[in-house]
Amino acid sequence: MNILIVEDEKALLSSMTDYLTGTGMHCDTAETLEAALLQISNNDYDCILLDIGLPDGNGFKVIEAMQEKDHATGILIISARNSLDDRLTGLNIGADDYITKPFHMPELIARIKSVARRRSSTERKALIFHEIKLIPDEMVMYIGEKMLSLTKKEHELMVYLINNPNRVLTKEAIAEHLWGDHADIADSFDFIYSHIKNLRKKIIDCGGKDYIKSVYGVGYKFTAE
Ligand code: CA
Repeated sequence: MNILIVEDEKALLSSMTDYLTGTGMHCDTAETLEAALLQISNNDYDCILLDIGLPDGNGFKVIEAMQEKDHATGILIISARNSLDDRLTGLNIGADDYITKPFHMPELIARIKSVARRRSSTERKALIFHEIKLIPDEMVMYIGEKMLSLTKKEHELMVYLINNPNRVLTKEAIAEHLWGDHADIADSFDFIYSHIKNLRKKIIDCGGKDYIKSVYGVGYKFTAE
């Protein structure tokens, strides 16, 4: 994991750096706002540990600068004990979490991991299955080099299938995934059937293989077998 530590208290900065480096993380450091802004414009980080009170300005500027990038970086505010406003402002403008000084290093690690986990689950990382490539949040799918567009439900269904290969997915589970607890199960089975039918047709028309297998009476399985 690539970490940027922004902190002007030298003792704290070096103890965080030593501890995190010892667990196998790679750490860059910045002791000023200017240095932090330079680091984020030159590098990509999995997580930024961010002190708000910096000698040459306010750490919120780092959060604002990150929002302008299309980033998948977790931001963890390192906050002084009496700065509730800073924490709330930070969370409002895009930080993921905060930790209050003083803290124990194992707690810091736990927070970093939880922030990184949350980020990576929403990260716009392509989902790939053989010749199929799906970009989360974009309603398109690639079959090799060919692009095809998907409806929102087809996209959600495709994400679900590609994330659960080689497993029998019951119609109930698919309905719950697509419509949540409010799914009217009886009706939704017909919708699932037609979405699956359309998806298969789109994939095959684009030259893809038919990976969506019906499992009679139960549901579907996404598999290359
Ligand atoms: Ca400070």
